[in-house]
Amino acid sequence: MEIKNHERLHADDRNLCKLAISELEDIYSDLGLSEEELDLLDMPRRSFTVHFPVRMDSGKIRMFVGHRVQYNDARGPAKGGIRFHPELTLDHVKDLSFLMALKCAVVNIPFGGSKGGVVVNPKELSRNELEQVTRGYIRAIANHIGPFKDIPAPDVYTDEKIMVWILDEYERINGEHIPSVVTGKPIELGGSKARSYSTSLGGIYVLEEAMRRMDMDKFEVSIAIQGFGNVGENAARILHEKGYKVVAVSDSKGGIINKEGLDIEAVMKHKTQTGSVVDFEGSQNITNEQLLTCECDILIPAALSDQLNSNNAHDVKAKVVLELANAPTTKEADNIFFEKNIMLIPDVLANAGGVVVSYFEWSQNLNNDYWEEDKVLERLKKTMITAFNDVYSHCDEKNCRMRRSAYQLAIRRILHAERLRGNL
Ligand code: NAD
Repeated sequence: MEIKNHERLHADDRNLCKLAISELEDIYSDLGLSEEELDLLDMPRRSFTVHFPVRMDSGKIRMFVGHRVQYNDARGPAKGGIRFHPELTLDHVKDLSFLMALKCAVVNIPFGGSKGGVVVNPKELSRNELEQVTRGYIRAIANHIGPFKDIPAPDVYTDEKIMVWILDEYERINGEHIPSVVTGKPIELGGSKARSYSTSLGGIYVLEEAMRRMDMDKFEVSIAIQGFGNVGENAARILHEKGYKVVAVSDSKGGIINKEGLDIEAVMKHKTQTGSVVDFEGSQNITNEQLLTCECDILIPAALSDQLNSNNAHDVKAKVVLELANAPTTKEADNIFFEKNIMLIPDVLANAGGVVVSYFEWSQNLNNDYWEEDKVLERLKKTMITAFNDVYSHCDEKNCRMRRSAYQLAIRRILHAERLRGNL
């Protein structure tokens, strides 16, 4: 687990919340929501804070603070990550849980939205203390989670190993096997195939559907990708394997470009050997800023928030921007892309492949029936393409603001479920 980026990650999803909330304010007025509807959307169904003791390696007891918010569960059990972060606040968890409810509604999986975590810097804990904090938190919230109540998953600074401790603690409390209580597990303990690259692949399925709509030929387009971590590297690898021409990639140290296309497998080896994509043989080094405005048809931000902004949006040459990162585009840049007729596929749709495969994991656990990789991919493709088409068909005929359309669709779906239940 890499801890050093924690400031960045926290800033990224603060930007995500800021952007989503300002977009939602416009949407609420566009949709002409009633006061009842606004009240219902404004309040999480359940939000709580727990305090729990943990015996540290020194033998002393230390109290920890944990939060969990189940924002909405009208469409199904709440679903959302658990993070460990020293600056975690209940308010921030509330915003993130609402965004989870929207994301699940956009891709139409039968989940509501939640989020939670512990106020702690995991860097300061030993492995044993990390395990005891995880188990202590789960004991404290055990009555409020479960396969049909609220299903946690990994998030910032929580990983597969922590999901196993969650599973084990919950099963000990209940005295039976209940793998569907948590997703993001290793395959040996009920995890799903294809989960590790599902965010990138889900985004690519959506991109291919967008290209089909725009009559773009796979063998004629060039692609630039910012970020070469879990999401960016997998996206580059999959696109390269599918025969696309990836002309530029970058990481925190800088980028590389080759107009004829990069050999991504060789770039991956180079990164493993040198720690960066920079100085890859047969390519030219560029800055991250140059990557964003380079000659390409498709631009994929897969690193940080706020990368496409009023300073560079006018210079972007791509026809399609696929937001695999969270909130990589500011509101100003969003407006500029709209004016320039650049199709922006928003994060809430583009990077939802991960939560879709989490849904498949939960479903496999409940049925005790484990799918081959092909089946996972087939169902992921179907879900993502349907979601793209749902969002796209909500757009204005000529000018499509997909972010707005995605949020509108999600809000409508949540309110419809509430109405069916008699809550409106
Ligand atoms: P990661 O930490 O594995 O990779 C981040 C990459 O960005 C690294 O290659 C890093 O070198 C690069 N980077 C850092 N600073 C940069 C800079 N200034 N310019 C260019 N590149 C820079 O993270 P990840 O899991 O790949 O996530 C990337 C983005 O995708 C984040 O916004 C994250 O919130 C979002 N996301 C990830 C997932 C997932 O399944 N991992 C799901 C949804 C959204």
